[in-house]
Amino acid sequence: MHRPVLRNAPLLAAGAAVLAVTAAAAPAADSVPHARQAKSPVAVGYGGAVASVDADASAAGIEILRRGGNAVDAAVATAAALGVTEPYSAGIGGGGYFVYYDAKSGKVHTVDGRETAPGSADETLFLEDGEPIAFDEAVTSGLSVGTPGTAATWDAALDAWGSKSLAQNLKPAERLARDGFTVDETFRQQTADNEERFRNFPATVDLFLPGGELPVVGSTFKNPDLARTYAELGKKGTGLFYRGALGREVVDTVRQPPVGPDQEHQVRPGDMTTGDLRGYRTKRQAPSHTDYRGLDVYGMAPSSSGGTTVAEILNILERSDVSSLSEEQYLHRFVEASRISFADRGRWVGDPAFEDVPTKALTSQRFADARGCLIKEDAVLESPVAPGDPHRPRACGTGGPAVATTYEGRDTTHLTTADKWGNVVAYTLTIEQTGGSGITVPGRGFLLNNELTDFSFTPVDPEAPDPNLPGPGKRPRSSMSPTIVLRDGEPLLAVGSPGGATIITTVAQTLTNHLDRGMPLVDAIAAPRASQRNAAKTDIEPGLWNSPVREGLEGLGHEFGQSSEIGAATGVQRMPDGRWLAAAETERRGGGSAMVVRPHGRP
Ligand code: GLU
Repeated sequence: MHRPVLRNAPLLAAGAAVLAVTAAAAPAADSVPHARQAKSPVAVGYGGAVASVDADASAAGIEILRRGGNAVDAAVATAAALGVTEPYSAGIGGGGYFVYYDAKSGKVHTVDGRETAPGSADETLFLEDGEPIAFDEAVTSGLSVGTPGTAATWDAALDAWGSKSLAQNLKPAERLARDGFTVDETFRQQTADNEERFRNFPATVDLFLPGGELPVVGSTFKNPDLARTYAELGKKGTGLFYRGALGREVVDTVRQPPVGPDQEHQVRPGDMTTGDLRGYRTKRQAPSHTDYRGLDVYGMAPSSSGGTTVAEILNILERSDVSSLSEEQYLHRFVEASRISFADRGRWVGDPAFEDVPTKALTSQRFADARGCLIKEDAVLESPVAPGDPHRPRACGTGGPAVATTYEGRDTTHLTTADKWGNVVAYTLTIEQTGGSGITVPGRGFLLNNELTDFSFTPVDPEAPDPNLPGPGKRPRSSMSPTIVLRDGEPLLAVGSPGGATIITTVAQTLTNHLDRGMPLVDAIAAPRASQRNAAKTDIEPGLWNSPVREGLEGLGHEFGQSSEIGAATGVQRMPDGRWLAAAETERRGGGSAMVVRPHGRP
């Protein structure tokens, strides 16, 4: 195993570069009123930090930190605000994964708030007459709506580690929903992309197509229904959702999707019951863990495949001194490590309550060494690559037939928070596709997820076991990868991203860009991305497509497809001098929003 890198030098250099950016671009958070802050992709200072895709949402988290809340409180406040400003990506109609570093104990904890299939579900959930229904039809249906986990995640996290009540943490978001936010190009475009299917549902039209039209860029978008829902949730607690009136409305909506007379598509009902809601539980489970060049990398263990797959990619890359490789050599190894790791993800990862998932073995260096053996310096592996056998790792051995990776939606949102006590949260939440199922709970101001389409509709290969078939109460396999990295037991950085299965490659690439290749965190996030998921073609962004590196890699045998954008990452980093640095996208999705409590002054 090779572990020469991780000197302090790149991190210190990172700090210097970032300071220069901050001085030029970041607004003084103290002097700007809430919800009117300019977007900056990087901020550095004291008192805590928040990074999300949206300035109003980051401001909600900062407001809670200023009022004495901790990183967990701030994460809930930011997530609730994202439910207002990013309603097509996240909200209480969905689920997610929460990773938390607790400064007092030095331990990393997680909450698995993934949606679950109804108790009546079995492997035939998405079959009709033995045939899988069309993916798009499944998306816009009650059938794909999993029992939501987001409100329960907030409750569980606050209960265990928060310092403020749910009501207090929901306040900024409630205000934002009532007073409104300014429509930007991304929001209008996402509405336009969904317009046709949204028109099936009058409640969705009322909410997202005001006056029957697309929201106008620059106008104020208000969601009084959601403001009321948040207020009621704050007052009555999440029992309102899991055991009360709101839950009954969710169930009615799923069982009888409220389509209008203009309905153009068949909208299948789902079978969620009030019993499913009552029985819903988040899971507190050990994080996934791997050692990467002396650092401790913690992530989300299954039911997400994020933690194990990021770990395997890193462990394969750890076999070489990435810091001394050219960009072409690095990308070759990164792409091949991703290809191999996705083969293992497909074969071995599903909901561990139903499947025997070898989490420890998948994240071990021994397994990565056996798999990394496949990589050639001067040639590209043929896809799909067959999985290995983590139970009995053999150098370059296989553990079953090669199967292709299934499709996953690509929209979600990730946020990262830190506080003055040193606690850190990485939290990824989603309603699956942009716009989820397209079904709004009437009068409640939020969309329901289509998370169950993350299941395999049929076994990917009839000859091969598939751990991701639907089952009663089962969690569909996710790719969400909220990640926290510790050095000597202290937080070094936290990152995560949306992007369906590309989340995994985005997080692994961002980590190696920063940790091995010396890029400041904001540059590590901004760098053009490549995503290989055990397919013939690797998706690359225009920055790589238009680079001479592509030609070099094609010479080795790589094939590429161009993808306009992959992921939308955010992160926080502890600087060597004790300040927090928050970082977000510079360009993707219109740029993200990084903020700190005090950009100036002392600890
Ligand atoms: N459903 C996806 C997952 O759980 C997330 C969707 C996305 O990132 O767009 O991995």
